[in-house]
Amino acid sequence: MSFDACGYTGKLLRVDLSSGKISVEPLNMAWARQYIGCQGLGVRYLFEELAPGIDPLGPESKIVLLTGPLTGTIAPCSPKYTLIFKSPLTNILYDSTSGGYFGAELKYAGYDGLIIEGKSPKPVYLLIRDQRVELQDAARIWGKDTFTATDMLKQWWGDDLRVTVIGLAGENQVRFASVLTEYAKANGRAGGGAVFGAKNLKAIAVKGSGSVSVANPEALVELSLKLMAETLVENPEQLVFTGWKGGEGTISIMDWANDYGCLPTRNFQAGSFDRKSKIDAREVKKITKKEKACFSCPMGCAHQVKIEQGQHKGTGVGSFEYESIAMLGSNCDISDLAVVAKLNELCNKHGMDTITAGNVIGWAMDCFERGLLTEKDTNGLPLRFGNNEAAIELLEKIARREGIGALLAEGVARASARVGKGSEEFAMHVKGLEIPAYDPRVAIGMGLAYATAPPGAAHTRAFPISGALFGGWWVGADPVKLDPRKPENFAQVCIQQNHWQAYRFSTGHCDFGLLEPGWKLPELLENCTGWPEIKDWRKIGERIINTYRLFSIREGISRKDDTLPAAFFKKPLPAPAEGAVISPEDFEFMLNEYYELRGWDHEGRPTQEKLRELGIQELGLKIGVR
Ligand code: SF4
Repeated sequence: MSFDACGYTGKLLRVDLSSGKISVEPLNMAWARQYIGCQGLGVRYLFEELAPGIDPLGPESKIVLLTGPLTGTIAPCSPKYTLIFKSPLTNILYDSTSGGYFGAELKYAGYDGLIIEGKSPKPVYLLIRDQRVELQDAARIWGKDTFTATDMLKQWWGDDLRVTVIGLAGENQVRFASVLTEYAKANGRAGGGAVFGAKNLKAIAVKGSGSVSVANPEALVELSLKLMAETLVENPEQLVFTGWKGGEGTISIMDWANDYGCLPTRNFQAGSFDRKSKIDAREVKKITKKEKACFSCPMGCAHQVKIEQGQHKGTGVGSFEYESIAMLGSNCDISDLAVVAKLNELCNKHGMDTITAGNVIGWAMDCFERGLLTEKDTNGLPLRFGNNEAAIELLEKIARREGIGALLAEGVARASARVGKGSEEFAMHVKGLEIPAYDPRVAIGMGLAYATAPPGAAHTRAFPISGALFGGWWVGADPVKLDPRKPENFAQVCIQQNHWQAYRFSTGHCDFGLLEPGWKLPELLENCTGWPEIKDWRKIGERIINTYRLFSIREGISRKDDTLPAAFFKKPLPAPAEGAVISPEDFEFMLNEYYELRGWDHEGRPTQEKLRELGIQELGLKIGVR
């Protein structure tokens, strides 16, 4: 296969697990020019590859794993690859990005990505060593946790093998099972691990010996070194996220979230935690052993922690993050940092999303305290808020789908539909995906961001809470004022951030790098690919968002789904954000404006005119948009 585009290998592996057939096919370069890679390209592939209405856990489901053109190059903070799949939590697409070294290694083996389809008759893992690509019997690692399975694969095939693997939760098709890479990095959210498990696929392991060609190596190296030296490790805003010079990583968020009142506490009943100081950055620092970086990243934001004394001595977490600590800590009223670390370790070991795990446990505790679940339902577990031992046991039960664990393994939307009795009102999710660690009542545009994020409640598709709390946002050259409690301007800020994030998540770049929209990343990409049009981040981002939306519409999503849990509309927060609530009128105002500015109709369907402008009108015609 001859190929001369830069930043890409031009090859995709297609693995049919039912037949065991493995083939190499050309990457669709016309789509790559329109969608770049990772998220965007994966969404386009699955729009074409998946029939409407398929069961995410059935054999007809597919997994796309894609790198971006920057992955594996010298471009700073660009180690990323993305798993794209129809989520068993939401029945719409999810694109889950992970870092580490796996993505670069896959490019060096000669592939931009993989498409996995069918279902293997027995447990297997995929072993990629350059041109040698094989399905191997996974009998000896099936049933093993992620750490043990990774150790065994490395023992068999070499320490330099890069491994991404599921644990018990994936094998048992827990709907929020994750896929863990290199002991610490996860394709965490929305159940990619369950899709692996349903296909009897335990792991993908890769070793590569090639390289990636880029269009303008001198310019790419010069710009990359400049950014590394001047921006990423000297800029105070970026420094916060590094492990250098006292940077605290994402855990630095805990202080302001608590001060402003948006730190989820007791299943979002409050936004401030009276024992925050026991689980904040100062405490995490005391147990941090080192900071680790992903491939090509000067920032090294992953805080590796270890508990060295007490009941949980020996517990370790490879990347201890704000989201996990908030959801497994304050959201469950747990203030023992060793217990929070233990819960996080269990999530990694069994392969489960920490955000959903904390959300689901918080909801179950809330139900228990209200008498909607009793000890009869919980196998004798007194599931009160703050019960450390119960939370630990619950996670074990969820991974194994034992007793109450089988109910909670379904995620909070399905579990609350089964429990009923009003528990749906405080089941904190959007479209089936659990709300992460920012209460939107404090800055109501965050509610719009959750409600309209393409895959359900994700905080990484727009983050207007920071602009609202810390002063303004820029759309084009003009500063836009955001008042946290007023609905004006949030729609246009969400849209701009949607486009920037979709673009960034399609390149291989990390969302902690180069924070300012439009800044330098397009130049890196042009130097990498040699395509001038790839710099148009607004248009490419908008095309990705609209394609995502068309997939969701085909699955029955409409305006009725672009909403929030009832608790955000009905229950005002206590101090420090006393009285903060989202009024239905303000929400409708934001949603109407969002649709209008997007060129969507009142039901949230892109118009044919908008799709024509983005060069994807044929996708609209396929689902009846005229
Ligand atoms: S900023 Fe952190 S997560 Fe992002 S690439 Fe660097 S080390 Fe990895």
